[in-house]
Amino acid sequence: MHVGCIPSKALLHAAKVITDARDAAHLGITFGEPKIDLDAIRNIASASRRNCRATSSNSARRARWITSLAAARLLTGQTIEVEGGKHYRFQQCIVATGSSPARPGPLGLNSPRVMDSTGALKLEDVPKSCSSSAAATSAWRWATSTAALGSR
Ligand SMILES: Cc1cc2nc3c(=O)[nH]c(=O)nc-3n(C[C@H](O)[C@H](O)[C@H](O)COP(=O)(O)OP(=O)(O)OC[C@H]3O[C@@H](n4cnc5c(N)ncnc54)[C@H](O)[C@@H]3O)c2cc1C
Repeated sequence: MHVGCIPSKALLHAAKVITDARDAAHLGITFGEPKIDLDAIRNIASASRRNCRATSSNSARRARWITSLAAARLLTGQTIEVEGGKHYRFQQCIVATGSSPARPGPLGLNSPRVMDSTGALKLEDVPKSCSSSAAATSAWRWATSTAALGSR
């Protein structure tokens, strides 16, 4: 969520502001060419992440969840030990370690110009042209955003 969803939505929001301003020409309102400050756009994503983190920890507190950010190991089918020695009992346990990007080996995509979504969302620059080859919504978001920022 913090690595993908939030930064991609912050980028989309920036893109929407740019395209709305361009589309306003139809209404007889013309703005100048946008000046794009990539550092500021990246900062929006960091600020949104902080807000989201604070909101989710408040919700967890209200729901009386016990939250612990640490390495853990299963001791038995119903007990977990968290780094530092605390033990917790559970009825059901969800182990959600996520997924990692896969690069099709035979295509030899080892160039720094080939990015996964994490690399793309760092937004180190806006490439003059780019191709987004994944079918996931995150790829569409990135393509839409970089097009609005000036990429072809
Ligand atoms: C660019 C992008 C945009 C997205 N946008 C959306 C969206 O708008 N809406 C939506 O619903 N979904 C979106 N997703 C998908 C969503 O982020 C994932 O479905 C969701 O994060 C999966 O949650 P998870 O808890 O299974 O895994 P993750 O969020 O990947 O979390 C797994 C965690 O486990 C940790 N971990 C891994 N291995 C270990 C280990 N051995 N020991 C301890 N910890 C470990 C990882 O460091 C990570 O913190 C997006 C994904 C991407 C990439």
